[in-house]
Amino acid sequence: MTRGGLFRSLSVQKKVTFVILTVCTLSLLTSGFLQVVSNRNRALQALEEDLRLTAESVGQNCAGALVTEDDALAAEALRVFQVDPSIVSAALYDPRGGLFSTFDRDSVLPARVPPRVVVASEYPVGSDVNVVREILKGTQFLGTIYVRSDHSKVDEGLISNIKNVLAVMLGTLVLAWLMSAWLRGLITRPILTLAMAAERVREERDYGLRVELQSNDEVGDLIEAFNEMLTAIEKRDDELRRHRVHLEREVEERTTHLRRANAELIEAMERAEAATKFKSQFLANMSHEIRTPMNGVIGLTDLLLDTELPEEQHAMVKTIGSCGDQLLTLINDILDFSKIEAGQLQLETIDFDLVTLIEDLGDINARRCSAKGLELVCSLDWRTPCMLQGDPSRLKQILTNLLTNAVKFTESGEIHLEITVTEETDENVSLELAVRDTGIGIPKKRMNRLFHSFSQVDASTTRKYGGTGLGLAICGRLTRLMGGNIHVQSEEGVGSTFVVDLSFKKVQGAAVQPVDLGEDVVELRVLVIDDNETNRNILCRQLESWKCKTVAHADSEEGLDELWSAADGEQPFGLVLLDYLMPGTDGLEVAMAIRADERTAEVPVILLTSLGFMGKTQLLEEAGLSGYLTKPIKQTRLFDCICTVLGVERQARHEGHGRRLVSEHSLVKLAQRKDIRVLLVEDNAVNQQVASGFLKKAGFPCDLASNGREALEVMESQSYDIVLMDCQMPVMDGYEATFRIREQETRTGQHLPIIAMTANAMEGDRDRCLASGMDDYISKPIDADKLNAILDHWVARTQRSRGMSA
Ligand code: ADP
Repeated sequence: MTRGGLFRSLSVQKKVTFVILTVCTLSLLTSGFLQVVSNRNRALQALEEDLRLTAESVGQNCAGALVTEDDALAAEALRVFQVDPSIVSAALYDPRGGLFSTFDRDSVLPARVPPRVVVASEYPVGSDVNVVREILKGTQFLGTIYVRSDHSKVDEGLISNIKNVLAVMLGTLVLAWLMSAWLRGLITRPILTLAMAAERVREERDYGLRVELQSNDEVGDLIEAFNEMLTAIEKRDDELRRHRVHLEREVEERTTHLRRANAELIEAMERAEAATKFKSQFLANMSHEIRTPMNGVIGLTDLLLDTELPEEQHAMVKTIGSCGDQLLTLINDILDFSKIEAGQLQLETIDFDLVTLIEDLGDINARRCSAKGLELVCSLDWRTPCMLQGDPSRLKQILTNLLTNAVKFTESGEIHLEITVTEETDENVSLELAVRDTGIGIPKKRMNRLFHSFSQVDASTTRKYGGTGLGLAICGRLTRLMGGNIHVQSEEGVGSTFVVDLSFKKVQGAAVQPVDLGEDVVELRVLVIDDNETNRNILCRQLESWKCKTVAHADSEEGLDELWSAADGEQPFGLVLLDYLMPGTDGLEVAMAIRADERTAEVPVILLTSLGFMGKTQLLEEAGLSGYLTKPIKQTRLFDCICTVLGVERQARHEGHGRRLVSEHSLVKLAQRKDIRVLLVEDNAVNQQVASGFLKKAGFPCDLASNGREALEVMESQSYDIVLMDCQMPVMDGYEATFRIREQETRTGQHLPIIAMTANAMEGDRDRCLASGMDDYISKPIDADKLNAILDHWVARTQRSRGMSA
């Protein structure tokens, strides 16, 4: 700590004492010192004067001795100095300065006198006081006297003087200390009292304390200010206390109020939950009850349509079928909408294959498009990762809704489902899923209400096209639930585009595998003849991604000219992809023209058609086609078909037999289906009829069991590749039967695909089926296309596992 700091940390009392005592001591020391010095000087002057007078007097006494030159007399006269102890020595000098007689107190030492004194003046020798005086008799100079004295007299006076000064100093200091004590009491006591009061206030928070006023000086002002401050604090403290009490009361009141409201809310919530539960249960029951007969109506209508019926009855059955479809859509929409409204709809997050999903959508909508003569194009950005994580059934629902609307509101032209990647990171991908049509379009002023429930463009649209106005509302809500958004662009009379933006997590480790390109396909020159521009572009893009060289023509005659001139040149075409439905000439005619010319008679030609050619393959073979594919063209099928066609042609040339037609069915379906055995487990007679009819129509041999127990018994004697399992059945339900089958499989190590087929279409039913060990799920009423897609999926899997075990 510095000295200043040390001083600052002293108490006020000590500071006052220190200052007073220091000032007093310094002033006393100074004045004492000055006084001692001046007293000494004065004593010295007096001693000299005294010595001078003594010397003169003794000199006069020695005048006779000098005149007579009597030494003894002179020595006698000088001995008078003996009485004064301070006289150290004395001497008489004759007029010539010669030493006449001396006096010396200390006989041991030689006389301490100057050897010769001529001048009658004061003669200083050493520090002693020396006096030299002339001895005169009248005017006659008789000689000189020298007297020397020490300081002893002066010193004695000095010591007593110092003693006095010290005594005075001590007395004064005591007085000063007493003064400071008095001052301390006067100044510092009130300050100390104030400090103590402040300390008490700090410790005890007692703002009622006051300090007594002791003086009217600055300290008094300070105390007054302190007291006033305490008064103000006390007042504010009082107010605060009052306020707090008020607040506490208010909080208590509000808490009571909130508790009451909370209890009421909980009660209301419980009532609402019970009502929602009841509503869901009611919906589940209703859905189940309505779906079971609907399955019969729709399924049997479909089967009836495949039988020989008089034209009038055929039309009636068709109407029944479409009414059934409409009713089912309505039920599904209302069910979905109520689920979303009740906040019960929960999205699932599972891995799914986007390409399969889009291809399934293409399959399902192809029939309706071709029935209206519309071109259906599905195109997928080649960068799109196949395996994604999300809710595939809800994504399918959104796109199905949009595609259904597009087909419904389009009389001619095309429907284009396009998937583009807008953003991609290592983990996620953002997709733009657009459904474009060339239909009636939507007036601008109606567009903002499109996604509201029960909103339709106008009453006449409803009358003409039907519908509930719920589809887009459901799409909008589902999209938002999935974290995306949906918007529409449309021009009346030109068409509409509904765009859904969604992001998905990519399934890690499922990166797109580069296609193992067949040697035949690389560098293959392909001629595409299709009047539809979108189709042409997509086909070319697709072919080029497999490293083919493409030339596309909208007009068949131009296409043929190019084909023939290339055949004459160095780079002939190795394959022609031909659209069936074109204005003017159709694809079959173009194919025949290609075959008729010997330059191109051997070029493989694949026909792309919107119409199924089941049963008409002879016609295609006669036209000389190498293969045909149904639109929308799936990438994988196109690739397989091209490779197969090129291989088959090569083999035919090699073995010298004729051309064999390669179709989509010959690629995947029929060949596979006939050796797949399906077990249908269903208790309801109508449902049995419907499902077995579908299976038969699709080319699957199938057996029947009417409950779980029966199924297990049948399976003991016959093995199956796929089981279609109803869930609610008497004797043993589908869940238990599945459980038993899976139990047995733990011993055999095999896995039989079991597809749940149930009228329970509520949220969680699918999960329940999958959790009980089933592999897939289809809800009743059964949609033939959906069933086909599911069966295809499991057939392909079965074939693959057979291939691996073969
Ligand atoms: P709905 O069951 O009536 O089709 P939606 O919510 O699916 O209900 O559609 C609401 C309305 O939006 C339809 O009635 C129709 O007027 C209009 N709309 C939807 N999609 C299209 C489209 N692709 N082209 C023209 N209008 C459409």
